[in-house]
Order: sequence, then structure tokens, then C-alpha cells
Amino acid sequence: MKQLVPTIGLEIHVQLATTSKMFCRCDNDAEGKEPNTVVCPVCMGFPGTLPVTNSQAVEWGAQAALALGCQINLFQRFDRKNYFYPDLPKGYQISQFFFPVGEHGAITIDYLPETGKDRAEFTVRIKRVHLEEDAGKLVHVENGTLVDFNRCGTPLLEIVTEPDMHSPKEARAFMQELQRIVRTLGISMADMEKGHLRVDANISLALKGSSQLGTLVELKNMNSFKFVEKALDYEVVRQTEVIQSGGDITKETRGWDEKAGTSLSQRSKEEFNDYRYFPEPDLPPIVLDNHQLEQWKSELVNLPAALRELGVAKGLPYSRVIELQEAGHLAKLIELVQAHTLDALLAANWLTKSWSDEAQLVDFLQTVSQNKLSSSAASQLYKLTITQKKSPHELVNLLEKTDLAEIEKVVMDILRTHPEAKEQYQKGEKKVIGFLMGEIMGRLSGKGDAQTVKSLLESKLTE
Ligand code: ZN
Ligand code: MN
Repeated sequence: MKQLVPTIGLEIHVQLATTSKMFCRCDNDAEGKEPNTVVCPVCMGFPGTLPVTNSQAVEWGAQAALALGCQINLFQRFDRKNYFYPDLPKGYQISQFFFPVGEHGAITIDYLPETGKDRAEFTVRIKRVHLEEDAGKLVHVENGTLVDFNRCGTPLLEIVTEPDMHSPKEARAFMQELQRIVRTLGISMADMEKGHLRVDANISLALKGSSQLGTLVELKNMNSFKFVEKALDYEVVRQTEVIQSGGDITKETRGWDEKAGTSLSQRSKEEFNDYRYFPEPDLPPIVLDNHQLEQWKSELVNLPAALRELGVAKGLPYSRVIELQEAGHLAKLIELVQAHTLDALLAANWLTKSWSDEAQLVDFLQTVSQNKLSSSAASQLYKLTITQKKSPHELVNLLEKTDLAEIEKVVMDILRTHPEAKEQYQKGEKKVIGFLMGEIMGRLSGKGDAQTVKSLLESKLTE
């Protein structure tokens, strides 16, 4: 048996959430709109119209390329990529071929391959990042095919990686990190299911230790992180079987069929497409300056990987950091911990509870830390905080005198022996509360704080 290692490269299209389209003033949010209503002569490619570059897309493109460790080209230029397809009214796509936004990048991704396993790390070089416009959509119906041009001219950021990933899990981790990066930058919704983030993968198998890569197969149509991993897993098994039985891999494009759980050949890729790229004569080149670039670089401190590192440095276990990031709470947590010098682990445990505002949470965390409260005492303080209109640092003194669990038990007991009292209270006879208070305080024989007992009783009566 030959020892085989997969090599995977990705080509990703990120739909930018700019206000208007890439080269015209059309609304860039065409989701759910009637087909062919979010179009204009520019994005429909009418003769005589002129495109104008969206400066928001230019800025976001550069920021994304910086986040991916690329060298930014201060001189960028658009080119025409010529091909014919019914969803492309101009007969060419405006893209960047010769002078893209950025090149020669790299990012290192740390991730948890499986729960219970150790943190793993890999580096992916980024070949290029460039801006381009999207095409329309073909809609296949029973007796033909319709075209919806609403998506024409939507700004896209294309990211091409070097073939540096060596397992489907790494490819998935890369896509997830990319999603976090563009969401952190606020430049895309990056929802794979909705097509904001589209990925094609090329995968080949090589003999272990060999620098000679195997025949490339391109995989398409993987519209979720799960499908990326599944489709690549399937392809690894399929190609391994072909090679082990002495066969040759065909250079081709295959589409993932989720229902069937297989990839199917779409077309063989023997010859190279010639798009006859040439400079777009209707658009001036983009010229950036170093000052601007330095400004954007300085804004990149809170990228997802940096946040994970901070979380670990603040004493959180790595798996907890991952959990918090998955749930979308890590950035907020780090911000709070840094701003108020809080205990990160304590903050992580209490962050997602319901608080009236951030100040209340911070007060609570500081009170718990300063008084070295046990976790059960902290839980009691939390209960007091949400039932009373006082702040945690005022309530903490009640804790010693107050055993909340005991009060609650007595309250429930008294309510059980006087079921009619609750009915009366709910009918509006509020003064029954005086009778109940007397019963409860008598039973507690002075151990409970009256204010606490009253608010607890009221909350039980209105339940
Ligand atoms: Zn338009
Ligand atoms: Mn493209």
C-alpha cells in the first residue's frame, strides 16, 4: 500500500456588503427582491455607459488583504476577463489580473481538530487577493432557463490560497477563520448557505515525502463548512482507491452532490481557458498611499487569532477560548476584561447571563472577586441582584445574613399552606402580602432580610 497525503488549495469568493454595487449606484442588497429590478444600464452592460469604482470596496479589499498578511499593491488596476455566458450581459467580467489588491500573504491558523484533542496549527500562504464584480444568476425552470441580473455587479473579493492544506479539517478550519476575519472587519455577512462566501477547492494526492504533487481535481458546490469537509473527505477516499488499484486520476471538475453524498464529474479540464485579459479602458487605476495603508494596518489589532491569543494569555483554557469564539462572545469578553481588569474565567462564566446593563455585570464581577465569593455565594448574589433594584456591591453585605435558598424554601412552604393567598393577591388584594410576610418572617425567626423576603415573595406571587 502506498502512503498518500492530500494537498488542498482553495479559491474563495467573498461577497462584500457595500452599500452600492461595484461599479454603479444600484443597491447592493438584492436579496429577496423581484428578479431584474435591482439593475441599471451600467451593471446591465448597455453600450455607452461608464463604470465608476466603489471606494468602499477598494478600502475593504485592502483591509482584507492586510488581514491575510498580503503585500498591498499601491498601484491596482482593473482588467477585462472575456468569456460568454448568459448571466454575463457585458460578455466580460471586470476583475483584476495584472495588478491585484494584494499578493504573497500568509496566515497561521490555530484550531481544535476535535473536542478533547490538543490545539493544532498550520500556515496557509495566500497567492493573491483581488476585487471583481459578480455575474447574474441562472434560474432553471421546468421548460427552460431564466436569467436574474440582480446580482450583476455585486462586489466580490477573490482570495486564492497556495496548496498548503493537508487535510479536509484544515480546509474547513481555514474557511471558518476566513469567515471570522471578514465578519470582524465588517465587510461581508459571510454566510456560506446564502452564497456570501463561495469556495472551490483543488485537491490532489501525493506519495508521502514526495515533492511531486498528484493530478489536480477541482471541487465545486460546497455551500456549508460541513460540506467542504465532507466533499474533501469523500474525494480523498475516492482518489486513494483509484491510485491504490493502479489507476490514474483524471484532471477534472467535480461537483458535490449533498443528497447523494458523492462528487460527480462535471467536465474534464484538459485545456487552459484563455480569457484574453486586457486593461479595462473605462476605469482609471487605483493608487493608494502608504499613509493610508499604515492607518488600516493599525486597525487590525483585534483579528480573531489575536483575540484567541489574548484569551489564553488572560488565563482561559484554549478549549474555552474556542467555545467563546464559536458562540460569538470572545471579542466582548476580552474588551471587558481589558477595560476593567477583570478575572477572565469568572467573566466568561457570567458574561451571558441576563444583566440590566454592562455596568451591572462589571460591578457584579468586581464584587465577587474582591469578596472572594465561592461560586454558590456568587449565584446567591446574582439572584439578589436580579430580584432587587440594588447594585451587587450594595447587596453583598446581605449575603452573610441571608441564606437565599432557605428563604426561598420557607416562602414556598407558606404559599403551599395558604393557596388562597396567592389567588387573592392576583385578584388585586395586595394587602394579603402583609399576612404572608408575618408568617414567613416568623418562621425565619429574624434570619432573613425583610427587603429580600418581600421581593422574593412578590416574584413568586406574580409567577
Ligand atoms: Zn447597476
Ligand atoms: Mn473570480
